[in-house]
Amino acid sequence: MFDKVLIANRGEIALRIHRACKEMGIATVAVHSQADAEAMHVRLADESVCIGPPPAAKSYLHIPAIMAAAEITNAQAIHPGYGFLSENAKFAEIVEKSGLTFIGPKAEHIRMMGDKIVAKKVAMEAGIPVVPGSDGAITSDDVAKKVAKQIGFPVLIKAAAGGGGRGMKVARDASELSEALSTARAEAKAAFGDDSVYIEKYLSQPRHIEIQIAADSHGEVIHLGERDCSLQRRHQKVLEEAPSPALNADQRAEIGEITATAIRKLGYLGVGTVEYLYEDGRFYFIEMNTRLQVEHPVTEMITRLDLVREQILIAAGEPLSMRQEDVPFIGHAIECRINAENPVTFAPSPGTITSFHQPGGLGVRLDSAIYTGYRIPPNYDSLIGKLIVHGRNRNEALLRLSRVLDELVISGPETTIPLFQRLLKQKDIVDGSYHIRWLEDFLRQNPEEPS
Ligand code: ADP
Repeated sequence: MFDKVLIANRGEIALRIHRACKEMGIATVAVHSQADAEAMHVRLADESVCIGPPPAAKSYLHIPAIMAAAEITNAQAIHPGYGFLSENAKFAEIVEKSGLTFIGPKAEHIRMMGDKIVAKKVAMEAGIPVVPGSDGAITSDDVAKKVAKQIGFPVLIKAAAGGGGRGMKVARDASELSEALSTARAEAKAAFGDDSVYIEKYLSQPRHIEIQIAADSHGEVIHLGERDCSLQRRHQKVLEEAPSPALNADQRAEIGEITATAIRKLGYLGVGTVEYLYEDGRFYFIEMNTRLQVEHPVTEMITRLDLVREQILIAAGEPLSMRQEDVPFIGHAIECRINAENPVTFAPSPGTITSFHQPGGLGVRLDSAIYTGYRIPPNYDSLIGKLIVHGRNRNEALLRLSRVLDELVISGPETTIPLFQRLLKQKDIVDGSYHIRWLEDFLRQNPEEPS
């Protein structure tokens, strides 16, 4: 096992990884930008190294600075968290070539899944159902027309290098196709430096259901059930729950088994998530994330497994701590992403936290690196915490969440807490009958907080 791990990230996830390391007897090294000198992950880590100025490109994404920090502190492994360098195959290679361990999958799998056209092909060949669409990249308007006609409108143009919902455009009919193609290409080029796009059937009201998997170097591959992440705004997840209100135990076992079998065929190593859209009883693969995800705690709450610990065990060549038949699915968990944003306009609201009161009680978890007096820097993403509750069933989890949202106090910046309080009063949320477009429809129809 490693003695010392460098955490190449910031915020709640850096703290999350620090916690797992400490509980395994591993020393931690925090790296931080000048904007994060006072951050909680820096304060708690055994050692810390400033790796550059506030812009992420010059600090958290700056590979030479991170490698230098690992070298001077004698760290043996690097955990990339999510975002930043977590899905950068080149970084994984550099870490391994320097004789350190990258706590994540092999570079070849990161690269494979990073190109969504390749990922879809590989998934299909491994027996995973995919969304009907083009065979590969779209080379001309004529090819696009042919494919669209075959699968039927509306269609979705997606960027091969896509991520964070960027480079995606809907064409409702043939007249919109050419413009949608060029807009998607331009957006993809600007965001990812790669303008390859492909076409998929546009599903109208699917749910987003994803399967968490874990694979060790001893040939064991397990699935940890699903997360339902259908509550989205601009293709970004807002609230996640496990299990999905739309699946029963048989469906869970079936899609879990299909996913685990495919992952075994690929020789994948580490934790990962296979994302599906689910409509009319059928699953359609959209992508695979080769990293720990923001919403991983809901799975941890219902399986009692520490996913970061599993990642570290796998990277150290040790076996997973559970076999498939021992994975329990206990009760229900819900996570709310608390952002420092105006809850109506979603404009970022950085600044100093003037007071902070944590909720407590049975089945409550708050993954956050904030504290009273902490100044949220304007340079990074607006996620400041994840509030997670667990209950014996969905109803208990909802009641607990409502109680806990009323207890949580974060003063200073605006936060999305009031949005969740509003959402919990909606019948569709209480019933679990929502799909990926539900939240945007709701926000359009109810733009302001009713007084
Ligand atoms: P990204 O990598 O940018 O997050 P994904 O392929 O994971 O892109 O898709 C993100 C979200 O976009 C999905 O959760 C869903 O809301 C929507 N989406 C993706 N593909 C389709 C599709 N074929 N039909 C309808 N919605 C889609």
